[in-house]
Order: sequence, then structure tokens, then C-alpha cells
Amino acid sequence: MACRTDKVVVGNGMVGHRFVELAAAIPGVAITVLGEEPRAAYDRVHLSDYFAGASASDLALPAAPSTATVRVGERVTAIDRESKTVRTDRGRRIGYDTLVLATGSYPFVPTIDGRDRPHCHVYRTIEDLDAIAASGAMPRRPPHLQGLHARRRSP
Ligand SMILES: Cc1cc2nc3c(=O)[nH]c(=O)nc-3n(C[C@H](O)[C@H](O)[C@H](O)COP(=O)(O)OP(=O)(O)OC[C@H]3O[C@@H](n4cnc5c(N)ncnc54)[C@H](O)[C@@H]3O)c2cc1C
Repeated sequence: MACRTDKVVVGNGMVGHRFVELAAAIPGVAITVLGEEPRAAYDRVHLSDYFAGASASDLALPAAPSTATVRVGERVTAIDRESKTVRTDRGRRIGYDTLVLATGSYPFVPTIDGRDRPHCHVYRTIEDLDAIAASGAMPRRPPHLQGLHARRRSP
């Protein structure tokens, strides 16, 4: 009889989502996904379509298989490899047999004057685009868009 294995996936982006689709098909695997964004995985490559009228639902990737537990809006803040547990910003501790880090990258912002000012945004998530649109709706100055490198990251 197959043993149950618990996989915890940190990050519900495009890579984490694809992993879950594949791993959920393996019998005896229990998967918990922890994503810090307030919504389930979406097509980040086509993020700019959001400015062209696509909705968040239009960008959504297919729902994760029902055998996976997806917790959105929950950030992993610590990994304890001794006890094989992760801790989240909601105070939850979750044990794992296998831990998958699918945390993607964060936008690197160079140390230029004004980077901490209001209406200075990065361009990575739907929430970022909402914030840019809100800044663009402010009177006087149009938003200034600057392409920047993204760096890989881990919790
Ligand atoms: C505007 C834009 C356009 C792009 N266009 C292209 C393109 O044309 N072609 C191309 O190949 N690539 C493109 N990319 C890059 C592509 O989107 C990324 O390579 C891809 O999304 C990477 O997937 P990922 O799952 O590794 O990371 P991500 O999509 O970044 O997902 C990682 C997820 O993990 C979450 N996370 C991070 N740390 C934690 C934590 N501690 N706890 C919980 N969750 C956490 C993040 O919030 C995020 O939701 C584009 C990216 C952007 C922003």
C-alpha cells in the first residue's frame, strides 16, 4: 500500500500551479499550496492584458485539482528543516514530507531618488496594476513606467 506523502508548495504562481496540476495526479499525495497574493494563480505573462480590458477572471489559470488545498493571502515566513514544518504569517504551522519553493522573483528597484514616494510602483501583480491605474487617475501627472529586472527569491 502506498504511503501518504505531504507536499507543501510555497508560491501559487505559474510554476507552482503547474507543479500542483502534475503532482495532484499521483495517488497518495496530499498537497497544500501557500500563496501570498490575495488570489489564486493567474497568467502573469499576459498581465498587461489587464490594462487592455481583461479582468482578473480572464487571467485566472484553471482551478487547482480538488485534491490540493490552496491557501491564498498567506505568506510563508519561516522554514524549519529539523521539524519539517513551515510557519505562515497567519500563525499556522504546516508539516511536510517534501517542500517545494516556487516563489518566483521580486522586482528589483535601484536606489534612485524618489523610489519611496507615493505613486512609485513595481509591475508584477494584479494589485500592482490596480495601484498604477489609481495613480494614473490622479490629476496632473501621468504615471511613468520603468522596466526593471526581477530577482529570484526565497522565503
Ligand atoms: C508584466 C510581466 C510580463 C511578463 N512576460 C513574460 C513573457 O512574455 N514571457 C516569459 O517567459 N515570461 C514573462 N514574464 C515572467 C513570467 O511571468 C515569470 O517568469 C513567471 O511568472 C514565473 O513563474 P513563477 O511561478 O516562478 O513565479 P511567480 O509568477 O512570480 O509566482 C511566485 C509566487 O510566489 C509568491 N510567493 C513568494 N514568496 C512567497 C512566500 N514566502 N509565501 C507565499 N507565497 C510567496 C509570489 O507572491 C508569487 O505569487 C513576465 C512577467 C511580468 C511581471
